[in-house]
Amino acid sequence: MRYAYVNGRFCRHGDAAIHIEDRGFQFADAVYEVWSVRNSQLMDADGHFSRLSRSLGELRIPEPRTRPALERVICELLRRNRLRNGLVYLQISRGQARRDHAFPKTPITPTIVLTCKRLDFVAADARAEAGIAVITVPDQRWARCDIKTVNLLPNVLAKQAAQEAGAVEAWQVDAAGFITEGSSTNAWIVTKAGKLLTRQADHGILHGITRARILECAQKLGLEVEERAFTPQEAREAREAFLTSATSFVTPVVSIDNHVIANGQPGSLASALREAYLAEA
Ligand code: PMP
Repeated sequence: MRYAYVNGRFCRHGDAAIHIEDRGFQFADAVYEVWSVRNSQLMDADGHFSRLSRSLGELRIPEPRTRPALERVICELLRRNRLRNGLVYLQISRGQARRDHAFPKTPITPTIVLTCKRLDFVAADARAEAGIAVITVPDQRWARCDIKTVNLLPNVLAKQAAQEAGAVEAWQVDAAGFITEGSSTNAWIVTKAGKLLTRQADHGILHGITRARILECAQKLGLEVEERAFTPQEAREAREAFLTSATSFVTPVVSIDNHVIANGQPGSLASALREAYLAEA
């Protein structure tokens, strides 16, 4: 991409920079949000803006811009980069201050960074039609995964482990033996009895905006749903499995730890939910 936005200014992507004392860089003291852009429209805009406000509130970082002001900047960023299909990334850190763990005593201005990236949704469709492999890994994250912070090292290591195993995503397993979520996606299964399961929105997972939308779609389709944690064994024995996120929508999972799920083909409910979500988006 040619342009980014940093602290009130559009600049060439290659020249965009923040200070080395930025608390996002020093302590991961920052939150972020990601919107998919489809046909020049932000998908699920409301959900992602409300989650952003919640993440900032949880960390007591003041909101540096109103939503309409942010929307104007995002719109201009997409225009300057001629982006019609892809994603917008927003990061807000507490700001820049002399390095000290505690919050600065005098108020500082939060740092705002916006970038965008083109995505090939046609290739993503092909991937959804084939289904993907996932592995399971121990969940090594902190106790507030519901806050969308840039503290993503365990997620980075989990995704890398997945790739090295020839898989696309890693489903993280908590100390009690239950799957929490993927490294950048929420996890779902359909039981043999046809019930849709996804973990309850507790502090152990990010409250995915796509997850919430898929719960609504499932209700409209009259599916039976339960929000509860499930184990890797339940997932291996499931009739279907899939994952959700803003950029992958609904993507069927056809194997877990090299164990083929059902007949190894994307499940019918996953495909129906993907269609229903995209038809409404
Ligand atoms: N879990 C994690 C850990 C994530 O990083 C993401 C992507 N932001 C998701 C779930 C999916 O959330 P959403 O549907 O809001 O993209």
